[in-house]
Amino acid sequence: MEELRRSCENVRFQPFEHRWSVDGRTYRMANILAEQNWKDAKVRVVVLAHWDSRPFADQDPDPANRRKPVLGANDGASGVAVVLELARVLKGRLKDVGVLYLLTDGEDLGPGIDEMLLGARHFAKNLPSLRPDYGILLDMIGDKDLRVPIERYSYSSAPELVNELYALAARAGLARTLPKQLGEWVIDDHVPLIEAGVPTIDLIDFTYEPWHTVRDTPDQCSPESLGKVGRLMELWLLREPAYRPSKNR
Ligand SMILES: [Zn+2]
Repeated sequence: MEELRRSCENVRFQPFEHRWSVDGRTYRMANILAEQNWKDAKVRVVVLAHWDSRPFADQDPDPANRRKPVLGANDGASGVAVVLELARVLKGRLKDVGVLYLLTDGEDLGPGIDEMLLGARHFAKNLPSLRPDYGILLDMIGDKDLRVPIERYSYSSAPELVNELYALAARAGLARTLPKQLGEWVIDDHVPLIEAGVPTIDLIDFTYEPWHTVRDTPDQCSPESLGKVGRLMELWLLREPAYRPSKNR
């Protein structure tokens, strides 16, 4: 919140509670929201990432590690890192576009899918009065060997946005990182938003060997990968004329 206050307006918590099936206790959780140019915008985009990480490394090959928490360098922190940096670089530069940065809690609580995506579900039930036109979710985009094909719920929900973003990636020299190919169906924080009527896409590299293990640490990630996704988001949100679709191509 301190970081976001440097560059955003209306930085706030969106608290909620969850009674966890694992221990029967009720936990207080909170999404974090922050705005740039939200009120005056012609197009409003929510850019989200999850700030929690999984409490159990249940995919770890070593059973002794499966009760330890996942640090979440990629699965969580990578998206948050890009959100924080985007907020910093976009300060004062947005024209027609308004951005709501949303850091969700409880995305990865589990153990089952019914106890995941908790913050996104809460946000989707409590949308701001000025509704977002689109959402873009950034998840697991720090992998050193980053490859982000088109996630399938995203393509069903917002094909025009997917086409625009992947075409922009190609023009920005990022076609190898963001190949215009259909990947998997991934249930993630974008699904509750889609169900609430906000077309939302998920930029995710789901082929990450340390996923939900104790090895999801910063040495598995690279700043270059974060930079590629961040730069693409910056170009798209600023609608720089050089990157607008051209009828001649
Ligand atoms: Zn996860």
